[in-house]
Amino acid sequence: MARVGSAGFVILLGACGAGEPAAPLPENAVAFVAPPMFADWWERTESCSGRRGDPAEIDWFVVPGADEFTTDRGPKVADWSQGRAGNRITVAGSFVNDELVVRHEMLHVLLDDAGHPEDYFIDKCHLTWQSWGSERPVAMTSPELGAAVRAR
Ligand SMILES: [Zn+2]
Repeated sequence: MARVGSAGFVILLGACGAGEPAAPLPENAVAFVAPPMFADWWERTESCSGRRGDPAEIDWFVVPGADEFTTDRGPKVADWSQGRAGNRITVAGSFVNDELVVRHEMLHVLLDDAGHPEDYFIDKCHLTWQSWGSERPVAMTSPELGAAVRAR
């Protein structure tokens, strides 16, 4: 299984998004229940964007053990799609605890937009790989720390 370099990650993240309803799930994707830290990440994403939404309307899927997965729009580390059943976010297993990746997809849900408007993704929420460090609210790899120092 090929690993994704950092340059590849930027491209993958920048190209994620959705559009067509009922996009097929990646092979081996399984549903999972959002862990408690996702509620915190959702609140933080609502706060930075000024948008409100219902996280219960998101169906979460993970591709266990994967660094990326294949879609009809190319390889992705995470992907948002919207269909009649609501919002669906699929995350490669290696990134399911990654605040940047998860919140990036959450922002797609809140904006209901597969694009990446800079005022939200960069200026307000810093949810691109390049802009992430300019806010850095918590350590990316430590959800427990994130919960301990939550801003609100
Ligand atoms: Zn995106």
